[in-house]
Amino acid sequence: MNLNDFKNTAVCHDIEKRRLGHSLLLLSRDTYALEQYAKFLVSALMCVGEGKPCGVCSECKKCQHGNNVDVLYYPRSNKNMNSAEINELIEATFSAPYEADKKVFVISNANGIDAGMQNKLLKTLEEPPHNTFFILTATEDNNILPTIKSRCRIVRVPRIADPEIAEALKASGVAENIIPLAIEYCDHNCALAKKYAENPDFADLVALVEDIFTNFRKSWQMLDYASKLYAYNENFEDVIEIFLNVIARAVALLSGAGDANDSLALTVAREFSVDCLINLNRECLGFVEKRRRNCNFNSLIDSFLFTILEVRHRWPV
Ligand SMILES: [Zn+2]
Repeated sequence: MNLNDFKNTAVCHDIEKRRLGHSLLLLSRDTYALEQYAKFLVSALMCVGEGKPCGVCSECKKCQHGNNVDVLYYPRSNKNMNSAEINELIEATFSAPYEADKKVFVISNANGIDAGMQNKLLKTLEEPPHNTFFILTATEDNNILPTIKSRCRIVRVPRIADPEIAEALKASGVAENIIPLAIEYCDHNCALAKKYAENPDFADLVALVEDIFTNFRKSWQMLDYASKLYAYNENFEDVIEIFLNVIARAVALLSGAGDANDSLALTVAREFSVDCLINLNRECLGFVEKRRRNCNFNSLIDSFLFTILEVRHRWPV
């Protein structure tokens, strides 16, 4: 999304007409898209130029660089917002803005704030001081209290188009040759594409997953594939994301959607039935759950590879 796309959103029109509610909850799996949208939003609120956000006035510039004194960002570290920060935020809502006529609080990863602290925040969201805005962002909303959600305007942030992801990756300084592959596997998630492109093992990992989908048919191959996958212990989330991505692309093709030029998805769609893929998808999600409970990575890999053989046998093409 660029500045002009944002200017065409209902949210931006409401800012222009001074009828934006006090609290918004921005949702997207892509933390890059969330950050970018929040930046446009605070710029539009603070802009002193024509056609908000103009992108060139002093306030817009400050908002783009995150140094507008009347825009406060929480949490202050990579950790979830803690009780001291909640108290500080509530306290800060009572003091007047320094330079602008309004104050904006941007609260990232709202899904990570525990229920007790969300309740504390709720009172402030229910009766906000005049000209105070709250922008909450989250990659999912399953832990956000319904009472908080009901006070917020919920905005599903649009996905970022591939050419824009390529530009963002170039600007972040990653090697250009890895960009197309990172985009192919990121499912329009710019933050994920960036994470992939920064991982020196990403191309090898993709090649391994493609090899498994294409050539793994017999139990005697298991040991070889397992020992290769064991090496990705530290990147297990990437391993699963890549498996899920290939499964989703093949299922899309088998259901009549998808990209007919996607050669890997075509191969997988020939090798696996829809039932097979649905079961593999479930297994991948179960893998993530078990890993969170600290199950042994190598035995999870063994069981995952065994499942691939099993589903192929049970639901043949
Ligand atoms: Zn401006």
